[in-house]
Amino acid sequence: MAMHPSPIAPVPEETARVARAAFRKGTLLMRVRDEIGVLYEDAMFAGLYDARGQTAIAPWRLALVTLFQFLENLSDRQAAEAVRSRIDWKYALSLDLTDPGFDFSVLCEFRARLLAGGQEQRLLDAMLEGLRERGLIKARGQQRTDSTHVLAAVRTLNRLEFIGETMRAALNAVALSAPTWLAEHGRAAWAERYGPRVEPYRLPKSLSARQALAEAIGADGHEVLAALFADRDCFWLCRLPAVEVLRLVWIQQFYHDQGRVRLREPADQPPVSDRLHSPYDPDARYAKKRDTGWIGYKVHLTETCDADRPHLITDVQTTAAGLADVAMTATVQAALAARGLLPSTHVVDSGYVDAGLLVASHADHGIDLLGPALPDSSRQAHAGQGFDLSAFTILWSERVARCPAGQISASWKEGQDERGAAVVHIGFSQKVCGGCPHHDACAPAAHPGRRANARRLRVLEQRAHEALQARRREQTSEPWKKRYACRAGIEGTLSQGIRGFGLRHGRYLGQAKTHLQHVFTAAALNLTRVDAWLREQPLARTRQSRLIAVLPAAAVLPAA
Ligand code: SF4
Repeated sequence: MAMHPSPIAPVPEETARVARAAFRKGTLLMRVRDEIGVLYEDAMFAGLYDARGQTAIAPWRLALVTLFQFLENLSDRQAAEAVRSRIDWKYALSLDLTDPGFDFSVLCEFRARLLAGGQEQRLLDAMLEGLRERGLIKARGQQRTDSTHVLAAVRTLNRLEFIGETMRAALNAVALSAPTWLAEHGRAAWAERYGPRVEPYRLPKSLSARQALAEAIGADGHEVLAALFADRDCFWLCRLPAVEVLRLVWIQQFYHDQGRVRLREPADQPPVSDRLHSPYDPDARYAKKRDTGWIGYKVHLTETCDADRPHLITDVQTTAAGLADVAMTATVQAALAARGLLPSTHVVDSGYVDAGLLVASHADHGIDLLGPALPDSSRQAHAGQGFDLSAFTILWSERVARCPAGQISASWKEGQDERGAAVVHIGFSQKVCGGCPHHDACAPAAHPGRRANARRLRVLEQRAHEALQARRREQTSEPWKKRYACRAGIEGTLSQGIRGFGLRHGRYLGQAKTHLQHVFTAAALNLTRVDAWLREQPLARTRQSRLIAVLPAAAVLPAA
């Protein structure tokens, strides 16, 4: 498919006349076209098309159609229908009223091109560049980040359904690619067992029968894999994604015992976050946060939050479901730096903060990472008794610590913690601690009949330790809490994405396609916000329940 970049034509006269007559106040798409322009141009997509061949539909139009599709949460068919039938869509796309549009499959093909060329992010970046030039994004302003869970576009399967469906998916893939091979190596019983979808109502009810069926499926899968790997002429079939998934799932779910294929005990399986959960989306993982467990992904949205500008999404990251938020702080900041969109203050919740990041954000990007540090997890801090880390003075130049009783530590050893961060292990003398009146509240309890224990500390390297202690002190102050209050606004953005744009549910299979969905969702959110800003529409106020509105907050909230 070839693409010949051409200048974007103005809105055809007749289309403009009819659209303005039909929509006297305009629609969002018409206002976007009039106020912001077309956002994209063909040259942006030149690398995605061949130099020769059949002429493709102008990619700037397909990019806009996809954006409008996400704006209105439409399927491909509905979006293609909107291009054909909606006057405001024709207006925004510079199409004649008589334009017949295109087949809906073109949109899927366009997304595949974007992904293959790694260009999906450019669609958001190009929009942000345009908005920054218009002064709608403040240089070195404030930005905030938060994440939410995303459900993969697959049904949740129990273990027996999962292995049955994995086998079924692999057999179907082989049947499609090498029907002769399957006819030669397949068994007649497989058609009955794996022909229809594996549904709970078709599965045996008793535990022993379910175990027997699981092991029969395991033996079938092993037979297919052994035959495929043994056949040199058809070795390429082993590289089919569904066969590769079958191989991985069989490693995770089965083992060999004296020539029999047996189901692994739950304790013998890999950690749940590493296991595959659907043959149709091998990237989807299980994770649990508080009471919510899900199979899918996590999306991190970062948005500007300056009072004098619209709140626009500047970065989108899609990750495995179980990846901790703290692992994404540096990634988000690096992505913003690469786009020239770094804030001066990055507002996040405690999940994105650790001591190293407080230091690195400032050192690498000049960012104030504004978020609460997790509290000291020591026994003394938990109990609120004895001396926690903040009660000790670290004398870095002398490589000693002074305890609240005025004693000096006896040992100082530098090392690394389990995550590779530089730490210092500090120990006090057993003799000194044993005779200290604060021993019971400060040092670990001794085993009966043993000598009294000495107090030991593990502290981060100097800059990280000092940054952490300073944050723990300042985050309790009212001025700091007031500054931090703006973080809460990102919850509204996530809510808007979930309720208005289908952010919670993956549309496509796989992490790469799910990320593309999130990029378009972010771009669509930005369009609505810019439109609201240009129309001077005020931000929605946080709604309160009638109870809170009527009763003073102190009367209904439990005492602190
Ligand atoms: S127990 Fe040891 S470290 Fe703790 S206050 Fe007493 S002397 Fe200092």
